[in-house]
Amino acid sequence: MSVSEIRTCQNCSAPFDIASEDLNFYTKISVPPPTFCPECRMQRRFSWRNERTLHRNKCAKTGKPLISGFAPDPAFADSASVATSAKEAAPAGKAGYVVYDRDVWWSDDWDPLAFGIEYDFSKPFFTQFDALMRRAPQPAVFNARTTNCEYANHVGEIKNGYLLAASWGSENVAYGSRVNFCKDSQDVFGVFNCELCYELIASVKCYRTHFSHNCEACTDSFFLFDCKGCTNCVGCVNLRNKSYHILNKPYSRDEYLKKLAELKLDTVSGLAAARKEFEALKARQPHRYAALVNCQNVTGDSVYGTSNCTACFDIGGDTKDSKWIINGAKMEGVYDGYGVGVVSGLIYEAVDTGDQGERMCFDIVVWSSTNAFYSYNCIGCQNLFGCVGLRNKQNCILNRQYSKEEFENLRAKIVAHMSEVPYVDKKGRVYKYGEFFPTELSPFGYNETVAQEYFPLTKAEAEAKGFNWREPEERQYTVTKRPEELPERITDVPDSITNEVIQCANAKGSTLGDSLRSNLGGCTTAFRIIPQELQFYRRLNLPLPKLCPNCRHYARLAKRNPPKLWKRNCMCVSSNHRHGHGSCPEEFETTYSPERPEIVYCEACYQSEVA
Ligand SMILES: [Zn+2]
Ligand SMILES: [Zn+2]
Ligand SMILES: [Zn+2]
Ligand SMILES: [Zn+2]
Repeated sequence: MSVSEIRTCQNCSAPFDIASEDLNFYTKISVPPPTFCPECRMQRRFSWRNERTLHRNKCAKTGKPLISGFAPDPAFADSASVATSAKEAAPAGKAGYVVYDRDVWWSDDWDPLAFGIEYDFSKPFFTQFDALMRRAPQPAVFNARTTNCEYANHVGEIKNGYLLAASWGSENVAYGSRVNFCKDSQDVFGVFNCELCYELIASVKCYRTHFSHNCEACTDSFFLFDCKGCTNCVGCVNLRNKSYHILNKPYSRDEYLKKLAELKLDTVSGLAAARKEFEALKARQPHRYAALVNCQNVTGDSVYGTSNCTACFDIGGDTKDSKWIINGAKMEGVYDGYGVGVVSGLIYEAVDTGDQGERMCFDIVVWSSTNAFYSYNCIGCQNLFGCVGLRNKQNCILNRQYSKEEFENLRAKIVAHMSEVPYVDKKGRVYKYGEFFPTELSPFGYNETVAQEYFPLTKAEAEAKGFNWREPEERQYTVTKRPEELPERITDVPDSITNEVIQCANAKGSTLGDSLRSNLGGCTTAFRIIPQELQFYRRLNLPLPKLCPNCRHYARLAKRNPPKLWKRNCMCVSSNHRHGHGSCPEEFETTYSPERPEIVYCEACYQSEVA
């Protein structure tokens, strides 16, 4: 990378580099260079993505009660809860969002162009876009081709998904995010092709593997970290193709089964004791600086089959010349994205965007479109600017139809106007053409979004930055079971447990759990066990959890490193390696920050240590 300019971030005041290849990229799509640093841009994109917070709301067209990522707005519900035409819908500028039942939204019973706004050169673009966001109907949830998935958002091709987010092609999965092509699994994050797994993170092709992280093709195991092809292992780190190992030590099959019985992994206390020993072993073992598999010239983590990419994380493959991407695959020349890919052309500053098409910039949930800028939830379109909820339309601005020539003329005028009359937010940040949507205009509270997962803030901190915050709904649970009253074993749990309201061990007043006391993940204070879940624990002989699903999700997130890189040196001092006596001179960029206690090795030293 050749740095050609150093700029100061207008959000956090930190200096950031703009490389010459970045300038080429911005020139190619005719946008000025960004004024926010890469990290602040990431946070801003995330603040527009609510995957996991669901509300009781109702369809503004049919009045049907439904579950939605959009919260009901009291003011809106009074006057326009059943809008049948654009005229009856909430007027521009009014608080609240018009929500349609998913199937109603996808039907042809309504016309999104009926909600269009004529561009007003006396107001900033983002103010007008915000007004359109509140007028044009939104689908209650973003899910497609699903069965029995009422409590799931941003999912597709899922059967029986419960509190599931950002997932695809799975069946019988509960309490998960980024669960792809999995079956009969629960409490998982970032997993592909797994079955009968519980508490599994960033793993692929595992079967009956629980409380594990960074694993591939492991079976019938507990507490594994960075293991591949292991079967019948407990508490192991950095093993390859092993079986009958406990804490990295081999046993005969009979000894292993005897030991396994002694560990009592079907009990709460047995699991806690095994976890403690596993964590102690993990702390002594070297950690790979990054998982970059079949990559050339890549920085980031969890990246497969990719070349010339900078700061990319969770990339499934076939990616080239891209920067600052989280969660994606199959793209070339894409900058600043979350959940992007499968495209032939440029994408910039986008969330959940791609699936064919090109030149999609400053977009959220825009698929298979070409030359779509500043749009939200549009599919199969061409030439859009500032549109919401359009399907198969061309040459539209703020949901108004124009001829191609009119579109091009007006678009050029708006681009100029955005810089002449920029949007200025509550904290004085300036948004000209080339900036993503301001966080303060997000339809969601900061705490409801992916931003809270990666850049957690307290309410006071969020408000000090001018971000929205949504107080969780008043929950008036009457707790019927305290976490310490739950049985040690699932075999001692009666069917009636599904009627109980269990207090979360992180909730105030509980005698258990302090680690998540700060409650940045929005502890729901109490929770229920659903019948599908009870069946799952019984089938796998696992005890009941003591934390609410939100606390469990945030505990899993805490196990993952942040999507952030630090330049460090290999910590290896082994005299048996290629580098000979003394410390390894290798430098790398890693998600392990310098103050972390883990022993971090370069690829070569790590590979010499795995067994
Ligand atoms: Zn910044
Ligand atoms: Zn909780
Ligand atoms: Zn090394
Ligand atoms: Zn070494």
